[in-house]
Amino acid sequence: MTPTPISSIVLEGREFPIKRDDLVDKYLTGNKFRKLYPLLITPKSTFNKIISYGGTQSNAMLSISAMCKQKGWEYIYYSKEISKTQEELNTGNLYLAKKLGMKHIQIPHNKYRDTINELQFNLDKKIFLIDQGGAIVDAKDGLDVLAREIREQNPDVKALATPSGTGTTALFLALALPEYEVYTTPCVGDVHYLKEQMSALANIPDNLVILKPKKKYHFAKPYPNFLDIYKKTLSSGIEFDMVYSPGMWECLLEQTDEKIMYIHSGGVSGNESMLKRYKRCHLL
Ligand SMILES: *Cc1c(COP(=O)(O)O)cnc(C)c1O
Repeated sequence: MTPTPISSIVLEGREFPIKRDDLVDKYLTGNKFRKLYPLLITPKSTFNKIISYGGTQSNAMLSISAMCKQKGWEYIYYSKEISKTQEELNTGNLYLAKKLGMKHIQIPHNKYRDTINELQFNLDKKIFLIDQGGAIVDAKDGLDVLAREIREQNPDVKALATPSGTGTTALFLALALPEYEVYTTPCVGDVHYLKEQMSALANIPDNLVILKPKKKYHFAKPYPNFLDIYKKTLSSGIEFDMVYSPGMWECLLEQTDEKIMYIHSGGVSGNESMLKRYKRCHLL
């Protein structure tokens, strides 16, 4: 695979090199591409079906759908029940994932936990279960590939940044690149929750710096300052996702002053439905 390119943007007079993992593919992008990489290089005949579960706006959901299409694997995705309006939207990640062949199964709220817990007991050798958010055990291998690319491209920076959901990306990147400082911030839950998630995977290394958000944000909710940051980055020449990246950019601009390379984590395909939500909330 050829390394993704590095371009750069200027924000508030500061130059930020950007590692363009958003350019890998239209739907299979960013850190989801990196995390799924071990499955992508697995021979097609190893599996015939992939099962996963989680939210219906999920970038991982869509990336897995793109992977399954490429591989010819059946793809079943479980979520909690959603409204008819959400189900019938003709934009956004759910719509795109279904178009790529994903079969969507909705579970009533009160049965959801049990159903998901039971998935692991009904597998055979040809079925692979991917936990929520594209969490696969071998994700580390894909992030090691990213780390190697960065080391070889040797950008003129000593620090990297990437926003966290599960924290898998930031953690494994920091572990693979001890010579760089890796900044992240929690976009799901708070700093304490993120540290807990990361600690379940590995010991958190000293070069991983978790920046605290300025205020408590709820995941994937519209915020006026996030919209401002989205617009500011867009007019600097690169579109970023509207769910994770604004919180990371806010922390970087307000809490750091060194030169930092931002790892673009993709997810831009979800922006269309986020922009609709901003409109519905009269923020746009
Ligand atoms: C999934 C995702 C993240 C979070 O990645 P984790 O490895 O779960 O921390 C960040 N940014 C974007 C755009 C994503 O799609």
